[in-house]
Amino acid sequence: MNNDPLSHGLWEATAPSLSPGTPLAKEIVADAVIVGGGFTGCSAAFHLAAAGRAPVVLEAEDIGFGGAGRNVGLVNAGMWVMPDDLVASLAAPYGERLVSQLGEAPRLVFDLIERLGIDCEAVHRGTLHCAVGRKGHGDITERARQWLARGADVRLLDAREAAHFTGSHAYAGALLDRRAGTIQPLAYVRGLADHAARGGARIHTRSPVIACEDLGSAWRISTPAGQVVAPWVIFATDAYSRGACADIRAEQVMLPYFQLATRSLSLELAATILPGRQGAWDTRSILSSFRLDAHGRLVFGSVGALRGLGKSIHADWGQREIARLFPQLAKVELEHRWYGRIGMTGDAVPRLHLHGRNMVSVSGYNGRGIAPGTTFGRDLARLALGEIGLEDFSLPLSDLRAAPFGGCRSAFYEAGAQLAHFTGSRFHQPVHRGS
Ligand SMILES: Cc1cc2nc3c(=O)[nH]c(=O)nc-3n(C[C@H](O)[C@H](O)[C@H](O)COP(=O)(O)OP(=O)(O)OC[C@H]3O[C@@H](n4cnc5c(N)ncnc54)[C@H](O)[C@@H]3O)c2cc1C
Repeated sequence: MNNDPLSHGLWEATAPSLSPGTPLAKEIVADAVIVGGGFTGCSAAFHLAAAGRAPVVLEAEDIGFGGAGRNVGLVNAGMWVMPDDLVASLAAPYGERLVSQLGEAPRLVFDLIERLGIDCEAVHRGTLHCAVGRKGHGDITERARQWLARGADVRLLDAREAAHFTGSHAYAGALLDRRAGTIQPLAYVRGLADHAARGGARIHTRSPVIACEDLGSAWRISTPAGQVVAPWVIFATDAYSRGACADIRAEQVMLPYFQLATRSLSLELAATILPGRQGAWDTRSILSSFRLDAHGRLVFGSVGALRGLGKSIHADWGQREIARLFPQLAKVELEHRWYGRIGMTGDAVPRLHLHGRNMVSVSGYNGRGIAPGTTFGRDLARLALGEIGLEDFSLPLSDLRAAPFGGCRSAFYEAGAQLAHFTGSRFHQPVHRGS
């Protein structure tokens, strides 16, 4: 993608390729301009093209360059915050609407993958939110209660069952969410982009949007070498926003997140880890995630940036932690390592902004962008098609406000993760049955 193995790691190495595309180099007219080629932008482009419109996607780098091509691949239902807290933080009717839309969003992702035949290692067998200690157990128990009250397909597992599902005895229990699953995220976003293009969307990569001019009945959107004139503009740039939409990024606090992928494990070893092939993460505040890819590699991640001191601190800790959770992988070789940034909002709720007439954005997914980006991308397409109004969204419109001390808080996350990982797992024994 950008010749940096630390940016898209395993996903770049194993995703089906996509035609690299060309930069915009002239003035063109379109039904809508979509800025950003991640899940939100490619879903919006696909749904507009499927409805017979001619959108243009302008991507500053390549499709999937942002969070879409770097993430864990957990297709989650809901946000980090518990359903009742989401409802409490938004005025009626938004809260329940949002919880319901996000609960159904994984189904939309897996249906699209199946209907379009996207080759992206999709496994729709649920995710496991693994409880660490009593506090973690209390967290997942309450989560289970709130989701079950809404009729969601979730089940609380005790410590024995959690060990059976994860292959590790480290957890006090787990919440199995059967609505969710895993994908190869870069392959999915490339598949969406490919189908949007086949439907008539024009995709221009290496085309950063640097200016927007209001022409009265339309917008002129400029890149260094071209312009698009269109009545609708959708910003889908989230934590990687830059240029003309850098203010979207300024309202978020950045949480760095890295991942390590082992070599492909033997069939015998792979059968001992997540035998049901769910994706997993834990309840710690400096959380860890783990899953297998289609070739039996363990993909393990946590908070931190692989640069400067963090490069060795996080990777060394990751290797120790893998050995602690799965002693059979004590000396496993790592093939890939990479990292990215997650954009967090103050209340962990995504944002819907109106930047001008017919100029909108959804952003701030707080590490939950696959299913939400896909479903909000579809809503943004419906908005531009005139099928729904802004009042029909499950997010209220809000003003764009820079996060107070955003840079300092991002640095604090990284420093905290380095401190925790420098000491973490160093003095722990591997987790065995009963330990
Ligand atoms: C390491 C990591 C792990 C994650 N794990 C998960 C997970 O397991 N599950 C999950 O659901 N979510 C996860 N996320 C979050 C998820 O990846 C994001 O929420 C999601 O990618 C947001 O989608 P998007 O399309 O809105 O933005 P992005 O995917 O970030 O795409 C935005 C695009 O906009 C482009 N852009 C920015 N400015 C401009 C401009 N001026 N002109 C043109 N283009 C521009 C960027 O280059 C970028 O390609 C993770 C994120 C990271 C970084």
